[in-house]
Amino acid sequence: ATVSTPSIDAYVKGVLAGDRAMLARAITLVESTKPAHSALAQQLLQALLPHTGGSIRLGITGVPGVGKSTTIDMLGTNLVKAGHTVAVLAVDPTSKRTGGSILGDKTRMSQLAQEPLAFIRPSPSSCTLGGVTRKTRETMALCEAAGFDIVIVETVGVGQSEIAVADMVDFFLVLLLAGGGDDLQGIKKGIIEIADMIAINKADGDNILRAERAAAEYRGAMQILTPSSPNWTPPVITISGAHNKDLDKLWAKILDYRRDLGESGELQERRQKQAVAWMHDMLSDRIMETVHANPRVSARMQSIEADVRQGRLLPTLAVDEIMGLIGFSA
Ligand code: GDP
Repeated sequence: ATVSTPSIDAYVKGVLAGDRAMLARAITLVESTKPAHSALAQQLLQALLPHTGGSIRLGITGVPGVGKSTTIDMLGTNLVKAGHTVAVLAVDPTSKRTGGSILGDKTRMSQLAQEPLAFIRPSPSSCTLGGVTRKTRETMALCEAAGFDIVIVETVGVGQSEIAVADMVDFFLVLLLAGGGDDLQGIKKGIIEIADMIAINKADGDNILRAERAAAEYRGAMQILTPSSPNWTPPVITISGAHNKDLDKLWAKILDYRRDLGESGELQERRQKQAVAWMHDMLSDRIMETVHANPRVSARMQSIEADVRQGRLLPTLAVDEIMGLIGFSA
């Protein structure tokens, strides 16, 4: 027997009621690459969009081993114990290589995974960063419609993914480690520039002093940067995710930020800009899909690529030809 796909109405009702199984199925629908699912997914999102926007959206990044999952596990558990509902999503453009991370994420956050008020969803496996981020944005909307009041998006600090995540959250937290004196060289300056807060993790045991020293260094470095907001100076704090140390302070800072930027209207403005950026991303994706789905393009693509490779055809003329094939002439 075939498993029937629920109707849009059933999805909408289930997600709005906070039904976990329905939410999981809705996310699977959104993540699906089947063209038949895509139209359904868009209808579903359209219906749910009026019910989104109510959560605190937190992005967390850091290199592998910095303690992201340990910290999210602990922070998420604290929040759930305080009565919040927490969804954790991952953006990992490398997950394709390691092959699915469903088990990985749940075991990495073993404490939180057992909490009924928490929902952990691994990174969708999709080949492009653009595909992964679009799906994560949509999944975030589904989680908000399902009533989660805190959505945490975790990403590995490798390349472009952190910029994409910073572009979909209210608050972007960068986790760092104290290194041996070369702290400031170890990280990309770009990441500090988009951080709303830096937390030096593993400030425990005999690492406390080093962590404090690193924090002081970063504070100095942050002062040189032009703050991205007139209402917020990104703080640098030390934490221990594993020992649940100063995670209360970390959360308090996030609430401070929401208060300050909420009052000034900047938070709303940030979300408005993000909505427009999301639209542009979707437009680019949609256009690329149209191009690649076009039979006339597919019939010609290999030979166009070969011509470009061999220098027989200028890339710009190749683009003109492809645009012509999909019906846009210069
Ligand atoms: P991720 O790759 O960023 O998700 O890092 P993990 O959370 O998997 O942590 C990597 C390693 O660092 C694990 O062995 C953790 O037990 C350890 N770790 C994480 N947070 C802390 C911390 O606050 N203090 C100490 N001492 N170790 C930690």
